[in-house]
Amino acid sequence: MQQAFILSIGTELALGQTVDTNAAWLARELAAIGIRTTRHATLADELPLIVDVLKQTAAEHDLVLVTGGLGPTADDLTRTALAEAAGTDLVEDPDSLARIRAFFAERQREMPARNSVQALRPRTGRSLPNDCGTAPGVHVRIGGTPVYSLPGVPREMRAMFEAQVRPHLPVGRVIRSRILRSFGLGESDLGDRIRDLMQRGRNPEVGTTAAYALVGVRINATAETAPEADALLDRSEAEIRARLGDYVYGRDGETLPGAVLAMLATRGETLVTAESCTGGLVGEMLTDVPGSSRGYRGGVVTYANALKESLLDVPRDTLDTHGAVSEEVARAMADGARRILGGTWALATTGVAGPSGGTTDKPVGLVYIGLAGPDGTTVRRCLFGSDATRAAIRQRAALTALNLVRRRCLPSAED
Ligand code: AMP
Ligand code: MG
Repeated sequence: MQQAFILSIGTELALGQTVDTNAAWLARELAAIGIRTTRHATLADELPLIVDVLKQTAAEHDLVLVTGGLGPTADDLTRTALAEAAGTDLVEDPDSLARIRAFFAERQREMPARNSVQALRPRTGRSLPNDCGTAPGVHVRIGGTPVYSLPGVPREMRAMFEAQVRPHLPVGRVIRSRILRSFGLGESDLGDRIRDLMQRGRNPEVGTTAAYALVGVRINATAETAPEADALLDRSEAEIRARLGDYVYGRDGETLPGAVLAMLATRGETLVTAESCTGGLVGEMLTDVPGSSRGYRGGVVTYANALKESLLDVPRDTLDTHGAVSEEVARAMADGARRILGGTWALATTGVAGPSGGTTDKPVGLVYIGLAGPDGTTVRRCLFGSDATRAAIRQRAALTALNLVRRRCLPSAED
């Protein structure tokens, strides 16, 4: 299989001032035609460094894609580096010069003298016309390996790749990808359940990504044709779902709130929320989903005890006896919300988001989540960890709350 190397050039990228989006985009495009990218590098605008990396990586890969450093200014060194690495010199490309002149003429602007350097190309290479800007790209071989150098501006880079590069690349085997989305099972527990499928060198290749207990299982299948790759994905998905069960809530771009809303829509049900420690985050996550008004009726943020009493009918006695962060109050908030706001389901959150306010009995990270529904009210006590950040505790609480609704609606619901 073809192995590609992607090189991003620019001091602003190396310093982290600009995020390199080109490399990710190119790697995905290559994958889609069966070319596997095995290495990326980001280099500052430094000539000897760029020359060294070009020479070395061209020798180790079947294809090199470079972006950036093709502008007209002194820090744009890619052309020079390509010529040096290819062991040749730079010559002026008359067609490129004419195109650059035409670019300025069309905009009724004088061509700055410096822009003429953009018409230079390595003697043994050829220029790639740029239909959206002034910087032509370059195609050259370094030690026999094809190297394509594209402008840094993402829009110009993409247009040039599509028009000037992709049509010339050998079409390899097809790589198709899918992501299964899960919540509630830690990354290592999840890994244990599918360890054999995650072994290196397998096809499909299976890996995980995690953020706040949301664990994605990425499946990459390689085959001669797209339908064959899809069949491999289907089989692998079925196997992984069998191992992970209800922890999987969706795939690819699906989100947990989206899955909850889809479930409610199928059942013709609605949800309301009463939030304390999450301060509206559950509502925010739900309303982020287009069309959420069909299932989410709305909610209240009741931070002060007085509002828990006046808006949700939480008895003062319950608040005084058990404190706002308690199973009893979570239950009363959920019941009150369901009765007063009117929904099939009502979610309530109350907890200690920290960083201060924790006690031995009620540590930072303690969150009670109430869920009232047609079959009664349950309360889940969660400990998200006293060392977790406030943001992480709130995020996990909101996601866990949504997941409770999802799990209660499952045919096999237990909690
Ligand atoms: P250059 O081709 O180096 O003159 O870059 C032109 C513009 O594109 C600059 O604003 C860069 O910050 C931006 N740029 C260059 N490379 C990348 C990249 N890999 N990802 C995103 N933006 C880039
Ligand atoms: Mg640059």
